[in-house]
Amino acid sequence: MHELGLLKTVVTAVEKAVADTDAPVEAVGLRVGTLSGAVPEALLGSWPIAIAGTRLAGARLDIEVVAAQVWCSACQKAQEVDEFFALTCPACGVGCGNLIHGREFEVAFADVADTA
Ligand SMILES: [Zn+2]
Repeated sequence: MHELGLLKTVVTAVEKAVADTDAPVEAVGLRVGTLSGAVPEALLGSWPIAIAGTRLAGARLDIEVVAAQVWCSACQKAQEVDEFFALTCPACGVGCGNLIHGREFEVAFADVADTA
């Protein structure tokens, strides 16, 4: 499954980021754009499989969905676009190829348990 492969890279990145502590990882935040190609529901479904047997086992997955936005030079502002819509301004209909948000797939945070 596509999402499982993506999550494996997330797990590896987080494991590296928390390598200096032994505290368990409680939660991982992901920023996922609506045009990233990753489906949040599928990510959540694959999460337990991706973290099984890793340092992240038991961690919660928080997904922040980032709406796709284009910069419309006619409106002079950012406009949210439908994920299946062409890169056309929803307000004025002018085609604007300047996607400024929507392709995000990145780790937003990793929370480790407070052992103090
Ligand atoms: Zn416009």
